[in-house]
Amino acid sequence: MESWDVIIPRPAKAEPLEGVLKVESLGSVTAQAGLARFKKSLIADASVMGVDLTGKGRPVRLVLSPEIKIESFVMTVDSRGVTVAGGDPAGVFYGVGAFVQYLCTAVARGLRGAVLPCCKIEDSPRFAYRGLMLDSARHFQSVATIKRVLALMSELRLNVFHWHLCDSQGFRTESKLFPELNTLGTMAPGFYTAEEIAEIRAFAAERFITIIPEIEMPGHSEGLLALHPELCCDPENPGREFCLAKRNVRTFLKKLIAEFAGLFPDSKIIHLGGDEAETTQWEKCPECRKLLKKKGYTSFRQLENDFMNDCASFVRSLGLTPVTWFTESVMERSTIIQAWRSIHELKETCKHGNRMIFSVHDQLYLDYPATPAEPFENWMLTLPESGVYTAEPYAAWEEEIGDLLLGPECCLWTETVPEHRVIPKLLPRLCAFAETAWTSSCRRTWFNYTCRRETLTACGWFDLKV
Ligand SMILES: [Zn+2]
Repeated sequence: MESWDVIIPRPAKAEPLEGVLKVESLGSVTAQAGLARFKKSLIADASVMGVDLTGKGRPVRLVLSPEIKIESFVMTVDSRGVTVAGGDPAGVFYGVGAFVQYLCTAVARGLRGAVLPCCKIEDSPRFAYRGLMLDSARHFQSVATIKRVLALMSELRLNVFHWHLCDSQGFRTESKLFPELNTLGTMAPGFYTAEEIAEIRAFAAERFITIIPEIEMPGHSEGLLALHPELCCDPENPGREFCLAKRNVRTFLKKLIAEFAGLFPDSKIIHLGGDEAETTQWEKCPECRKLLKKKGYTSFRQLENDFMNDCASFVRSLGLTPVTWFTESVMERSTIIQAWRSIHELKETCKHGNRMIFSVHDQLYLDYPATPAEPFENWMLTLPESGVYTAEPYAAWEEEIGDLLLGPECCLWTETVPEHRVIPKLLPRLCAFAETAWTSSCRRTWFNYTCRRETLTACGWFDLKV
């Protein structure tokens, strides 16, 4: 491996230039208007490494450059100094991140005499959507842990935080309309207040991360329904599913969705869940049966589909785009579908023309153990880092699906993951995932990746950034 080839995710294009630039010869950072905060963080990171970027010497320039695409950057290291040029602030942010990795590996070889090999890197993301889902409904995490996850994501250039906030075991966003929901929390108590959510939103936005909050229906709602049995088919035996027919259910959910979405004013996409509902309750319910007949349906899945499309159209009426997990249902075309069981779901969705997110469990569920020695549940497979690194079955027909595939997203469910295990579960597999989301297949090999990851580990980059 070449000494200039150390960056994760691996750049789209990197060429060595003649010579080296001594780290000792670096002077101060100059930043174009609007980029001052990147200058500040770069100086702070360098200072931890023992490098002073405030004195006299070869400059480190941070600039915006209109001919570069969004989220993209060009980093040039030559005898005159360093330039990080971005197409937009996100591009500069990612370019500065790449330079910090570059500097960190150089300094690890010894500060005195450390050199940066001259090079030119031109980089752009493979996918505009690069996601991580975190389940805060099962095990709850503190605001501090959420921020650590967001910071780690941004260092790896992931830009969508899909936040699973509601499930049978907990309802984690503050509800002023239904405050009783915030008493839930069977695996760990807690919820995020409106102020805490605002704080997390601001933290994410500073790091160019969009939040997609998720609320669940019609299944995965046991806790909520125990508090509101009137919303079930049989109030005596509430179960996990909302009744599909009772009018008060839709009224309740619309109020709840509107309040939930209101906590995320800068999110343009809301996830409605929609997975793993059972039909048993509906089959026995006189009102569901009556509605099924009235609509002329032959299966309760059709009734469920109708219900989900109604919820999705309410989301659209709020000016937002709905996402659901893949089900047997056909969702109206503007709904984004998240494939999670198999690649076939992607192919099916593609036929209907819905946009898609790729999250197939055996390749991207990070609650699965990375080695057989880790604790696991019987529904889990082993998912080593190499498995995540090669998880791109869509690569073979990327052209065919074109823009319909927004991008991949890995998922950390937390039934078996208490808060203190969140970061250890994410690393190092999130690095491998980030590279599949950012870097084209033709630029990647497992061997080259592991060399870079080991170099970054050995030089202390993870200690600096995580
Ligand atoms: Zn019913």
